[in-house]
Amino acid sequence: MPTAATEATGLDRFSLPDAGGHFGRYGGVFVPETLMTALSELGAAYEVARKDEAFQAELRHHLKEFAGRPTELYFAERLTAHCGGAKIYLKREDLLHTGAHKINNALGQALLARRMGKKRVIAETGAGQHGVATAAVCAKFGFECVVYMGAVDMERQALNVFRMRLMGAEVRGVEAGQKTLKEAINEAMRDWVTNVRGTHYILGSALGSHPYPMMVRDFHRMIGRETKEQILAREGRLPDEMIACVGGGSNAIGFFFEFLEEAGVRLVGVEAGGRGITRGDHAARFEGGKLGVLQGCKTYILQNPDGQIELTHSVSAGLDYAAIGPEHAFYRDRKRIDYAYACDDEVLETFQLCSRLEGIIPALESTHALVHGLKRAKQMRRDELLVINLSGRGDKDVNQVAKILGVKL
Ligand SMILES: *Cc1c(COP(=O)(O)O)cnc(C)c1O
Repeated sequence: MPTAATEATGLDRFSLPDAGGHFGRYGGVFVPETLMTALSELGAAYEVARKDEAFQAELRHHLKEFAGRPTELYFAERLTAHCGGAKIYLKREDLLHTGAHKINNALGQALLARRMGKKRVIAETGAGQHGVATAAVCAKFGFECVVYMGAVDMERQALNVFRMRLMGAEVRGVEAGQKTLKEAINEAMRDWVTNVRGTHYILGSALGSHPYPMMVRDFHRMIGRETKEQILAREGRLPDEMIACVGGGSNAIGFFFEFLEEAGVRLVGVEAGGRGITRGDHAARFEGGKLGVLQGCKTYILQNPDGQIELTHSVSAGLDYAAIGPEHAFYRDRKRIDYAYACDDEVLETFQLCSRLEGIIPALESTHALVHGLKRAKQMRRDELLVINLSGRGDKDVNQVAKILGVKL
């Protein structure tokens, strides 16, 4: 039966995806035949686990004890005063173990892998955040762990490579193509095809073939669930607007999901505008991207007229990817979630501003949400509420920012 909210927005968030993994015309399963069985086994195992109270209770236990949930909803008093408009709250995913929301999904999938009897885990990583989260859960549960990472990324994020190795993961450099995330995903898929029986692939965002976009979303849904409880307890009402950055889309969809049917809450995803919206200089898929298939999934993709994947750029490695999660494409068509972008120079400025005013160094990815959030706060009234998802902390980024600012460490 539709609730008042579904009548208001005309949406039923639980009806998606369909059995084939489609969010309207997006999503689905586009993989070699050798992986079809693995994906349907994974889908079946997940369907049982998600309804199993024992599984959910164990996951909640580890999320609390190992990851540090629930995370705080923090009133950013000085950023609010600085903007002079809406009251700004930050959802503090940056306080989680390993530094970002990614640990939510890594824990969920690790428990599922154990349930499926897998002994070996593989993952892809770009900046290294998902690799570090995966290495941590593999150490904790005693899985053999292999992380694929582009050779260029390994050089840029040498500290994260060392972290993963400290926690017992084998990091394999990928030398193909641009030597970054896209190539790392290709290698991980190749490994999975070969070793599928004993291996689980922990994909790091709400992307790829079904059931990943749905499963990864579900493993992040507590972000929004906690936010709803916390804002109701603090303010006695729902926020007027919520903003999150969008790489593949996992922190954003986890943050938004609980609010999709709340017609009064405006939801905005922020993509990477890079050096500006010209070909090859950004990663804003909704600014010139077209429908296509990349790495198992039909969605908006930055591609040239021949369908070749466009080069992308962002100051934040975590947002630097040519495709966006299929659920985002669906809700954009339905006009339920709006999308904006933030550019590198604004991000660098706001990175410093948030550090100086709040004593919180945000991840460059999360700073994209802050850039747009501060613009919006200035346009909103003082009695309005704005919640920004701070998906991760910026410790990993300080070397890079110092270098860009010309500071010698
Ligand atoms: C990886 C990452 C992102 C981007 O991934 P999503 O799947 O879009 O959430 C955003 N913020 C941080 C801190 C990250 O590490």
